[in-house]
Amino acid sequence: MMIVGVHPLAGFDKVLHYRVPEALAAVVVVGSLVRVPIVNRLHLGVVGEIGEPKDFPLERLKNVAQLVQPFPALTADLLGLARWMAGYYACGIDTIIETMLPAAVRNDAGFKQEKLLKLSTKLPADELAKMSTRAPQQGRLYRFLEQQFQPVKKSLILTRLDVSAAVVAVLVKRGVVEETVRRVERVAYADDWGTGEVVAAMPPLLNAEQRAAAQTLTEQLERAVFGVTLLHGVTGSGKTEVYLHAVHDALKAGGGVIFLVPEVALTPQTVSRLRGRLEAIAPGQKTVVWHSHLSEGERIDGWHSLASGEARVVVGARSAIFAPVQNLRLIVVDEEHEPAYKQDETPRYHGRDVAVMRAKLAGALCLLGSATPSLESFANVEAGKYGILCLTQRVDDRKMPRINVVDMRIEIMNSRGGTALSRKLVNAMQARFERREQTILFINRRGYSSSMLCTDCGHVEECEHCSITMTYHRSDERLRCHLCGAERPAPMACPKCRSVKIRWRGLGTQRVEEAVRRVVPRARIERMDADTMSKRHLFRQVLGDFRAGKIDVLVGTQMIGKGLDFPNVTLVGLIDADISMHIPDFRANERTFQLLVQVAGRSGRGDREGEVIVQTFTPQAEAIQFSRQADFLGFAASELKMRKDFRYPPYRHLIHHSFRGPNPEKLQFFAEQWAKTVEAALGAKVELRGPSASPIEKIKDEYRWQLWYFTSQVTTVVAELVRLREQFAWPDDLTQVIDVDPMNMM
Ligand code: ADP
Ligand code: ZN
Ligand code: ZN
Repeated sequence: MMIVGVHPLAGFDKVLHYRVPEALAAVVVVGSLVRVPIVNRLHLGVVGEIGEPKDFPLERLKNVAQLVQPFPALTADLLGLARWMAGYYACGIDTIIETMLPAAVRNDAGFKQEKLLKLSTKLPADELAKMSTRAPQQGRLYRFLEQQFQPVKKSLILTRLDVSAAVVAVLVKRGVVEETVRRVERVAYADDWGTGEVVAAMPPLLNAEQRAAAQTLTEQLERAVFGVTLLHGVTGSGKTEVYLHAVHDALKAGGGVIFLVPEVALTPQTVSRLRGRLEAIAPGQKTVVWHSHLSEGERIDGWHSLASGEARVVVGARSAIFAPVQNLRLIVVDEEHEPAYKQDETPRYHGRDVAVMRAKLAGALCLLGSATPSLESFANVEAGKYGILCLTQRVDDRKMPRINVVDMRIEIMNSRGGTALSRKLVNAMQARFERREQTILFINRRGYSSSMLCTDCGHVEECEHCSITMTYHRSDERLRCHLCGAERPAPMACPKCRSVKIRWRGLGTQRVEEAVRRVVPRARIERMDADTMSKRHLFRQVLGDFRAGKIDVLVGTQMIGKGLDFPNVTLVGLIDADISMHIPDFRANERTFQLLVQVAGRSGRGDREGEVIVQTFTPQAEAIQFSRQADFLGFAASELKMRKDFRYPPYRHLIHHSFRGPNPEKLQFFAEQWAKTVEAALGAKVELRGPSASPIEKIKDEYRWQLWYFTSQVTTVVAELVRLREQFAWPDDLTQVIDVDPMNMM
């Protein structure tokens, strides 16, 4: 008798055991999606193990009620991954499995099917003649099918030939006609996203650096063991071609591939370029596209074709890491430094880190790529855990764009009053407009931050304990550190130069757009920000118009820049380089460096040389100076030293614990009691900062407190926190969330 342990979904964070009925025993495997009875209802669940329960009488076990589909819903490596994630990210395994299985699959939404007919035997001429006279409809059907090279849709035949379903049934029964069922595919992008693209018909010949990188990857893939390699290539160095070579190798070896791109990069251009090339590599192979805008039908079809082994490649955003790819050999994580890989709701996983773990469980190669690698990944290279491959030149020896840094302190002094655009940027924009070339102006998306900036000397107030920017709280005019809670009154004058010209906020896209209209009144200007981004069609239309040259100046957040290749853009302006540097986040410098280098990489991709203008109040800042030469190694060395001194990630792990509730005093009381409990139980294994009020203290009438843990033993500490959390007497009106390796420090 076969007995299985099942992970039921929807609120059961445990394993329950069932017998498998005789008829299903041959088909149920680890990873099968089944329905099982719990109390008096059937629930969906995934088979997690085969074997008997330790402490439950076998005669009381119930039966598995149903097997939902013939192939496993989760591969063995995915099940292992689910277990690891539940432990690492401190959440229930049912939540993880639900994240892995798209809702559409769980809801078992049927897929569209169609029936096909074809001839299975040829009748001798005399028999055919007999049939035609006795049953003319049968004869008609036979002669029609005889002329077809491929199976034909049954519905089509019934209407076209005017024969009845009964006639078909007779011939099927006689074994003359065969009826088969085929799933109808709803392919994402088929007619929608694929238009107007310039897909290189022939893959370019690799240059020497690309060839060397591709060769190394070929050898690594041949070994067919787990490994992680970082591809560090400057912007425009042709990393995509190197990825595609590796994909080719993996497919040739019969393996499966996951190709991850950050959500913001998932533009029609990126996807269809990849899709075109992938399908050229393996003709007849389908590439499944995976992202949050898919319809239920598209998602379910994509999922099924991967789970059944029909398709072997998936391209998609973060959650594509859970695609049921069989025989996984390669995972590519493009733009691996992108914070978009981190999910900011439960389960709060990081797509790149999960990719590395999945590769490990599947014995696959994980290829991380970026022009500005995350310091986490780079530290792993330095520690010898990851391999590294470098592309130091742009393809065709195109020049790196010139970066001009404009000191806005001087601009403001010379211009009297507020300026969004420096003289230099205005002149450059006007010149581009005269020459019918295009300009992109970037505005820092993180302009909501409320740090204080002296516009005379560029000074920004920082916490002396944490080396992060202090946050200005308007309600009581105080500065607070949201890591340790230190606070002091907001100064009326700059503590460094005594100037009273203090600014609190960044510029909005709208204000910049207005400023641009004033200086190039005849230009066609378009704005792209959070509003436009949420309307998918508008977003695509604007990008399409920009590509077609119907727009001269595009103003937007850095989100518009990713993965786009606009050859006619010769000027890129970054309006407010400081903002990302002065947010209360220890990654602020890293973000700024990445932003500057990536933004600069948008310019000069065609034959014309590009120019970049960066406006800043702190031109001497390291993030800005290193970005001028796109000097990643120099930047990484200096920044990693700072991280080491403060023992920040990647040298220790950071865990964020947030507490929410209607009563601020109660919140503070319990947060403090909890902190004491943790300190008493974990002692030296963890360093606590806080608890303190969150930078945004109140959202929708709920107060927020938070606590930070620094630790070098993350797995032990998370497990301990989970155990303590279960025992702690939380009040009913308090909600708390643990976020391991948080990316968003707000
Ligand atoms: P990256 O991702 O490194 O910034 P891409 O992969 O987007 O760069 O490549 C930049 C451009 O160079 C693309 O248009 C690509 O088609 C082209 N390209 C890549 N490799 C070569 C090559 N060896 N020869 C010519 N063009 C290339
Ligand atoms: Zn000052
Ligand atoms: Zn502090």
